[in-house]
Amino acid sequence: MRASSGPRHISGAEKLATADRLEDLAAAMVKRALEHDKGTPDKIHLTVEKVSVSEIIRIALPDIRTVHVASVDGGRHAALAILAGAGVEPDVARSVMQTMASGAAPGGESMRGAMLVDAVTGRRLENDPSRGVRVSRMDLDDRAAADLRERLQQIGLDNAHVREALVLAAKVLHAPGIVAELCWSDDPGYTAGYVAAPRLGYVRFPMLKPLGEDRGGRAFFLAPGADVGELYRYLEKQVVLIDRVGRILPDERPHPCR
Ligand code: AMP
Repeated sequence: MRASSGPRHISGAEKLATADRLEDLAAAMVKRALEHDKGTPDKIHLTVEKVSVSEIIRIALPDIRTVHVASVDGGRHAALAILAGAGVEPDVARSVMQTMASGAAPGGESMRGAMLVDAVTGRRLENDPSRGVRVSRMDLDDRAAADLRERLQQIGLDNAHVREALVLAAKVLHAPGIVAELCWSDDPGYTAGYVAAPRLGYVRFPMLKPLGEDRGGRAFFLAPGADVGELYRYLEKQVVLIDRVGRILPDERPHPCR
């Protein structure tokens, strides 16, 4: 589902389901588009595509941990340290963070998708700087969805932002050539964000942007020489079903040297 108001993207969502659930799912998606915090859309697109079971790759969710930070600056500082630890050049991470904070699309708006950035040179690699790359065709199976909700409830994080970001990050972390992901939401009421990396899992920061800010974004950092064409194919077209959840690791305070 994709909902927009004029040129402004309002919301989007993905589901993988068996055909017998299609009618209910379509109704739920329309309801969701109409009730988004970012406003009422004037256009809702529902696209339904048949997928054959043989196309599906099954993967697990990443481990989750929260780094408790006392301010947006503290959050960004801690996120930069984690990105550096994952293999992103510190200057590149800083510059991408600044770009995201000032709106990564031309005109200073949020992009509809993610930036693709060479983790060493900082070169932007996406084909269209307004759209970026949109990760699509991924979902949890019913058991993993129930497991995830139960575990997130135990740590007070069972909300759609966290659940959906985890699913997206799981797919991204299995992409060829990915070094790390950085994200904060464009929802003005939601200040948390995360860094995800293959060896580190999903590291959440409760404050990564100021309350009321509607510029959000995502950046996928790539190893030098990564095959960008293959990455687009995987992120946009490969069907991924998540059938296992990750661990919930203990919360942390920021570590100044990491
Ligand atoms: P959200 O977490 O939905 O608030 O999105 C935060 C930012 O991530 C948006 O401003 C987009 O730049 C980007 N984004 C949202 N959905 C996707 C997606 N499916 N694939 C890639 N990037 C996305």
